[in-house]
Amino acid sequence: MGFLTHLECSSCGERADASRPQNLCPRCDRPLLARYDLELAGRALRRHALCDREPTLWRYAELLPVGDKKQRLSLGEGFTPLLRARNLEKLLGCEELYVKEEGLNPTGSFKARGMAVAISRASELGVRELSIPSAGNAAGAASAYAARAGIQAHVFMPRDVPRPFITECRALGAEVTLIDGMITDCGRVAAEGVQRFGRFDLSTLKEPYRLEGKKTMGYELAEQLSWRLPDVIVYPTGGGTGLVGMWKAFDEMETLGWIDARRPRMVVVQAEGCAPMVTAHEEGRETAEPWAEPRTVADGLRVPAAVGDFLILRTLRESHGAAVAVSDDQLTRDALELGRCEGIFACPEGGAALAGLRTLLDRGVIRRDESIVLLNTGSGHKYEQLWANGGDGL
Ligand SMILES: *Cc1c(COP(=O)(O)O)cnc(C)c1O
Repeated sequence: MGFLTHLECSSCGERADASRPQNLCPRCDRPLLARYDLELAGRALRRHALCDREPTLWRYAELLPVGDKKQRLSLGEGFTPLLRARNLEKLLGCEELYVKEEGLNPTGSFKARGMAVAISRASELGVRELSIPSAGNAAGAASAYAARAGIQAHVFMPRDVPRPFITECRALGAEVTLIDGMITDCGRVAAEGVQRFGRFDLSTLKEPYRLEGKKTMGYELAEQLSWRLPDVIVYPTGGGTGLVGMWKAFDEMETLGWIDARRPRMVVVQAEGCAPMVTAHEEGRETAEPWAEPRTVADGLRVPAAVGDFLILRTLRESHGAAVAVSDDQLTRDALELGRCEGIFACPEGGAALAGLRTLLDRGVIRRDESIVLLNTGSGHKYEQLWANGGDGL
């Protein structure tokens, strides 16, 4: 098992066996988190040894749940560039701004990180069929890694997702079911197949290892900034895996002695048409109310009820962070602004991060002399229709 020791419930602290496939906490139905023997892992991997490692997220293998090298599925995921955004710095009057360019991942989004690790681990534990309800990117990434593992993927997507997402899954060998409804409806139908056919459920935070894949963004940011974390990280938030994952990575790295106790302020950006975390954070709540009629062109942000809502809100409080909602018009324009200014063909969610940054600079919540990292979580290539209709039009 490498340095993975057990799973621990993020809410009640219950321990669970990591040597077999697990979903939510058997006691309270909340997300399980992977725990490692960090002392041993830290002796096996010194941070200065990383420079000899492969340029994928598997460079942090000692901090990941797949002990057996042969079980590590890779399509070149992770270790994406952290790009200094000098033109945007000028435009916004910022001193130090970076974009973590996740659009370069396999299948064009950072969902590849989570799926690479979760499907490697599932396959290692003997899973033969998996199930994933998705707004698009998670399905594509799951299809790719399932193909690589020789596992059958069953994906469930809303009928109205942009066509390229459906084509991609089919091209990658997945069985695609289109649902008249939202991601929550897809979840319901997918759950029936999980019950009836014993498929493994890979839904966000309903298994512990997608988070482990996404946490590697935190390791990479630290490594790429020479072990000095930025002041602020701006994250377009749906289910929150990346946000919660990076926060977990920072704690692990402090235990490993790789970074000190300083932490970035974590910023959640959502769309005005689906902003349950923004509302809950503003009201000082520990969990979020489900959003009644989620509506946004940024599919990754159309998550009306997140399983890990309390983890997102806890991260916001602990980091003294902020949460902000932006309009579809703003996020579409700012996705294109990333293209015009920096040569990054961004997804609408990446545009949301930039739009959120603008708003918080205006409000004085983020200062112009702070070091800031924006996450562009995916590539703009699959959104032909949106670019034709939205923003200034193309
Ligand atoms: C899924 C997704 C998000 C949201 O990520 P979470 O970890 O669910 O918060 C943001 N951007 C893109 C492109 C996505 O596919």
